[in-house]
This record gives sequence, C-alpha cells and structure tokens, in this order.
Amino acid sequence: MDYTLGLHEVADGIHAYLQPDGGWGWSNAGLIVGDGSSLLVDTLFDLKLTARMLDAMSTITAGSPIGTVVNTHANGDHCYGNQLVKHAEIVASEATAHEMTEVPPAMLAALNKAPGEVGELFRHFFGEFDFEGIEVALPSRTFTGRLELEVGGRTVELVEVGPAHTRGDTLVFVPESRAVFTGDILFIGGTPVVWAGPLENWIAACDMICAADVEHIVPGHGPVTDKAGVVAIRDYLDFVLREAKVRHDGGMDAWDAARDIALNGFSGWGEFGRLAVNVDTAYRSMDPAHRSPDVVEQFKRMFRLEHPG
Ligand SMILES: [Zn+2]
Repeated sequence: MDYTLGLHEVADGIHAYLQPDGGWGWSNAGLIVGDGSSLLVDTLFDLKLTARMLDAMSTITAGSPIGTVVNTHANGDHCYGNQLVKHAEIVASEATAHEMTEVPPAMLAALNKAPGEVGELFRHFFGEFDFEGIEVALPSRTFTGRLELEVGGRTVELVEVGPAHTRGDTLVFVPESRAVFTGDILFIGGTPVVWAGPLENWIAACDMICAADVEHIVPGHGPVTDKAGVVAIRDYLDFVLREAKVRHDGGMDAWDAARDIALNGFSGWGEFGRLAVNVDTAYRSMDPAHRSPDVVEQFKRMFRLEHPG
C-alpha cells in the first residue's frame, strides 16, 4: 500500500487515514465502518487537519455516521480534533482521560508564538500546526483493562496496554478483519518515544500484537505495517533497555548515556534523538529516585542529539 496522505482501505470497511511523513505531530487515524454506524480511531493535532480528514471520510460516513470515537492515548496529535466529533460517544482508558486534561492546547498556542530560544525550539518541532481555538472534548466513556464495543454489527475490542508511550495506551482490534490500530505503540520509519514507560510494558504490548491473529497493522505514525514492523520496534526497545542498564549500573548519568549509545542499525530511523527521552525513562524505572528533566530540557536534548556541535 502506498504511503500517501489520505484514506486507505486496508481491509473490507477498515480504513487507515495516513499523514506522511509520520514525524512529530503527523499522526494516523482510522475508520471502522459498520452497518449504519462507524467508529473513528483518534482525531488529529489541530482542527484544520481533523476537518480535512473528516471531509475525506464524508462519502463513507454519510451512510454510516461516526457514532463512536476512540482516543488511543492523550497526546494532542490523537485527540486535539475531538471537538469536531463531540456529538459521538468518545471512549478512552481512564488513565488517558485523566492525562488529556494535562497539556492544554492554549499552552501550545502560546509556545508557538513565544519569542526567544524556547519558542524557536517549540516551532522546530510543532511550528506547522495551529493550536488556536482548540477546546479538547473529553471522553464521555472510560474503561480499564478491556472493553468490547459493537459498531454497526462489527465487534471492536479495546485493550489497554499502558503505561508505555503514555500512561494509558490502548490497542483497537477488529478481530473478524484481522486488523489492529495501535496508536503510538507503533511508530514505523520513526523512533518510538517512551514518555511514560516502563519500556518492559511496551515490549509486552509488541509481544501481544505479534501473538494476535492480525495481518493489517495500522501504526500511530508511519505506513501500514505487518508483524515484522512490530518486531523491529520491539528490538529497538529491548536494545535501548539493555544499553541503558549497562550504563546505569556503571554509574553513568542518563544524558551522558544517551550520547554514548551508538544506535547503529536504528540510527537511520526518523527522530532518532528520542533516544534521550527513552534512556531517561529507562533510568527512571531502574531507579525510582531518578529525577527526569522538564519537558523543555527533554526537547533540547532530542534536538542536540540530532544536531550535534
Ligand atoms: Zn502520536
């Protein structure tokens, strides 16, 4: 399947909405079409992008309107467009619903206009998005563990696998179609960023996908993939965990460790500077007393890894 902007039918009534190049903020979404009703997996980072997506889906949703939205996790590139579908039931894990209140879009709108070094850094990552006028519509239904939904005669299974990327990551399975929407448990072509951790939970989520009877795998960022794509992410996380542990046990500081680890085969992945966050998160799970830097410092470190000197 081509990795191009727009809606792609990956199986009968199972659509992926893809936004190349899958880098910071360029997320995917999904549409599961039942008889007379549809389920939307995630909205996008701003209102303009979400409206463009809903327009691309409109010939389908005219007959099967979106009755349910699932937010796979709380990052803005998966829920900031919620207000455009707030007539629907919005479903998320309880942990995600809590986390969705923590990063107000108005703060990102202000950072996008901020002068000086912090504003410049923010715009380097997120300058292409418009955070004005966003009021996040919060979930109207939450769950923990697992939840089965029925969408126009189709069964959809939600499985909470967080904390991993965030505190409440959810996988969205459509068993009869052998399909899964993974949210940011998968970045394909890009580097995963482990904000919450522990990395072990994320590795377990990869194992769960590999053990499931699925062949159509839609990541949160990047092209539609297969189980080999899942294994690659698992291998990366396992590699980072092992390399971080050696350095932690040797007494090396987390930021020094991130600069010391040679990514070798993983260095060609997009956003490889996310290693800085991933090593820090690994340190936090190895040592509960470890103090992580604030989010501005985290972005500085990612930038520095990708732009040395
Ligand atoms: Zn994302």
